[in-house]
Amino acid sequence: MKATAAVLRGTDQPYAIEEIELRDLRPNEVLVRIVAAGMCHTDVLPRVPGFIAPPPIVVGHEGSGVVEAIGNAVTKVAVGDHVVLSFDSCGVCANCSAGQPAYCDTFIVRNLFGRELDGSAAATDAAGEPIAARWFGQSSFASHAIATERNTVVVDKALPLEVLGPLGCGIQTGAGSILGALDVQPGTSVAVFGSGAVGLAAVMAAKVAGATTIIAVDLQQHRLDLALELGATHVVKGDAPDVAAQLAAASGGGVQYSFDTTGIPAVIVTALQATRMTGKCGLVGVLQGNLELDSNTMLGKTILNILEGSVDPQVFIPRMIELWQDGQFPFDRLIEEFPMSQINEAEQSSLAGGVIKPVLRP
Ligand SMILES: [Zn+2]
Ligand SMILES: [Zn+2]
Repeated sequence: MKATAAVLRGTDQPYAIEEIELRDLRPNEVLVRIVAAGMCHTDVLPRVPGFIAPPPIVVGHEGSGVVEAIGNAVTKVAVGDHVVLSFDSCGVCANCSAGQPAYCDTFIVRNLFGRELDGSAAATDAAGEPIAARWFGQSSFASHAIATERNTVVVDKALPLEVLGPLGCGIQTGAGSILGALDVQPGTSVAVFGSGAVGLAAVMAAKVAGATTIIAVDLQQHRLDLALELGATHVVKGDAPDVAAQLAAASGGGVQYSFDTTGIPAVIVTALQATRMTGKCGLVGVLQGNLELDSNTMLGKTILNILEGSVDPQVFIPRMIELWQDGQFPFDRLIEEFPMSQINEAEQSSLAGGVIKPVLRP
């Protein structure tokens, strides 16, 4: 199966649009013609020298599209179905069996290695050389992707596929952390650190949950302005000299829930300090260094390191779509579309804090 893909050839190289050859489908797999794919911060990890998924690789893990072929054991997905792709999981380990696929025993190897479980590559380039093409069980920065039945969520054909891709990871992580992992209750206070796609999805979800104090913290005023439009009741500039005092004043001495999307140790400490005793602090960013905590900061608090919002995409993606249709979860306001040929411009704008959620169209 020939496909056109954005191939990352080296940690410091731009993506190159190339023809690749995808291998044949296995019994539990699905071939998807990609209509759109969101860009998530995790997609830059293969640029980190020494990371477990080195180039050459096709990344992209927020794909949406149309099913073109299915393996002979697939029963829940049919050719022609419109689908949103999410993270992959095994379906049989203890956590998958308990409805917690984000904590699948094989989460890391299925999603972050970019390769088959046996370590081989799923695609070859024009010269016949291997290209890793199983990133998050999809590698959707391409015209076509191989997914599995488990990470393929069927959606209504009347829905616009071009906006649904980001529901598969970043938006799900933000909203799922609030509505799932942290289980924010009505009438409570929430502080969200970082107003990128994950943080703003969390702000919208906190409003859905009925939180009455929602504080967004970020360095960029234009993102804080958007946070206010999406449900934040207070905003705090992250580089203000009195961040802690502003957080305490807005929350009456401490929030019930804090949520860090930055991974920056100093920000995580601030988030924990802003959390009242009995409160919960959720973390989702890739940790940017060593995190040092003292017992006073942690006293009486729960710290959760959250994967994918702790939700099951087969349940939560339809829920987010319903909330969106109902006008309660306008995640499409975070999206800016780019043709796949402009993937390098999209990445640069995203890393510079410009576009919040780039969506690539093959
Ligand atoms: Zn599992
Ligand atoms: Zn992601």
